Amino acid sequence: MFLKKPMISFAGFRPRTFASKLSVLSGATFAILLLIALTTLYFVTYAILDKRMDEDLIEDVEEFALLHQNEGLTKVKQEMDREVMLGETDSVFLRLLDIEGRTIYSTDLSSWHEVNSNHQIPQQIIHSADKILVSEIYLNEKEANVKTAFGFIAPNIILHMGETTEEIDEIMHLLIIVFSLTFMIILPIISLSSWFLAKYVARGVEQVSLAATEIGQGNLRYRAEVSEQSEEIKTLADSFNTMAERISTLIAEMREMTNNIAHDLRSPIGRIRAIAETSMLTKLTKNSEQNFDTVTADILEECDRLIEMINTTLDVAEAETGIANRIKDKVDLSQLAGEVGEIFEPVAEQQQIKMSFQLEKNCWVQGNLHFLQRTLANLLDNALKFTPPQGEIKVALYRSQKNIHFSISDTGIGIPESEQHRIFERFYRCDQSRSKNGSGLGLSFVKAVVKAHQGKVILESKPGKGSTFTIMTPVLG
Ligand code: ADP
Repeated sequence: MFLKKPMISFAGFRPRTFASKLSVLSGATFAILLLIALTTLYFVTYAILDKRMDEDLIEDVEEFALLHQNEGLTKVKQEMDREVMLGETDSVFLRLLDIEGRTIYSTDLSSWHEVNSNHQIPQQIIHSADKILVSEIYLNEKEANVKTAFGFIAPNIILHMGETTEEIDEIMHLLIIVFSLTFMIILPIISLSSWFLAKYVARGVEQVSLAATEIGQGNLRYRAEVSEQSEEIKTLADSFNTMAERISTLIAEMREMTNNIAHDLRSPIGRIRAIAETSMLTKLTKNSEQNFDTVTADILEECDRLIEMINTTLDVAEAETGIANRIKDKVDLSQLAGEVGEIFEPVAEQQQIKMSFQLEKNCWVQGNLHFLQRTLANLLDNALKFTPPQGEIKVALYRSQKNIHFSISDTGIGIPESEQHRIFERFYRCDQSRSKNGSGLGLSFVKAVVKAHQGKVILESKPGKGSTFTIMTPVLG
């Protein structure tokens, strides 16, 4: 069974864009909050007015009790009449009852039949400690709620007074009108400001989305513009632009690499073709058996070179992407450098190059033995390749507090400053060294392996004087 994604919908209107969804959501949230606030204010106001009316009634009863005590019953009766005159006969009544519930005196009760006919004195008033009881009743003849109070003003005289809650009802009614108007005025303002706010926030997202569309359509130079945006949108756009930059750099690198590979593969393949062509042209005139051996040997040699180049390209790609999880061996670089050096010593001797070693013991790193071995071999191979006879190669290794420093210095042809930053690129070979064997892949392999080992390669070189390649890699902690 498929569950449909819930959609936000308001009276048939379904917001589709990010800005409209955001504005509808924030508008609705504001509206609900405003409604809650106004409703709370309404009920709090009602509770305050209701309580105040109760307190007023209690206060009145107490004042009448005091008046009776100080000035007697006649004064109480006068005051009752005055009270009704100040208010309205319709909305206020007062009467004095004896302990049996018989009326001793009352204001005009012509519009208070339900009160007048009731001679019951609530039992609580007789037994309660505070002697004043306030309650609210509904009177059919008034079609309104009435607050009434029973209270002793003398040991055998009870004051019964009441007042309709019309005043409170009117205030509450007025409040409903004011609140409704407020809600109706504020709601469009809120909706409008939510819309502008959402539009403002969405502008950044729209920029990023526009940039993504442009890049998707092949315009790789397009970038998201991020001015005056909130921090989050700015970060999003910055990250997007960084990603786009990285992708276009990668594409450019891949394009260049493909060109280089095509260029470098074309030479050996061209040579194979030339050998085969020459052999065909000469097979009739020359000793064909001897010719066959030479041609086969030449073709095999070119094929081996091709295979080696392809393998090295794959090795570089592997070192760049796939060996991070294979850097697990504990490798003693002192021992490794000694072993690799031993392999190259006979070649150096043959080329009349002096080789010396200065290796501090116990230089441990966490790494991949196989890849490190090939890295050192590549650097030594280059040093021997580019150092003329009578030259000198020094291999040094020492440990500082945090790093192991491995360096190979030669007194060879050196590298021009203008080319120093390029020799770590795939297939790059300096002009002056093109006559030598090589594919231009050795140093890109070295750089990739050292990077995978969290290290770096530093080059110092002067044309005609020599070069020093130093590898710095973290010491095993
Ligand atoms: P390759 O040695 O196969 O040509 P590398 O990537 O190892 O490729 O080196 C790239 C280029 O850097 C070399 O072709 C050479 O021009 C230059 N180079 C590397 N090592 C040295 C060195 N020790 N002395 C002078 N030039 C060097």
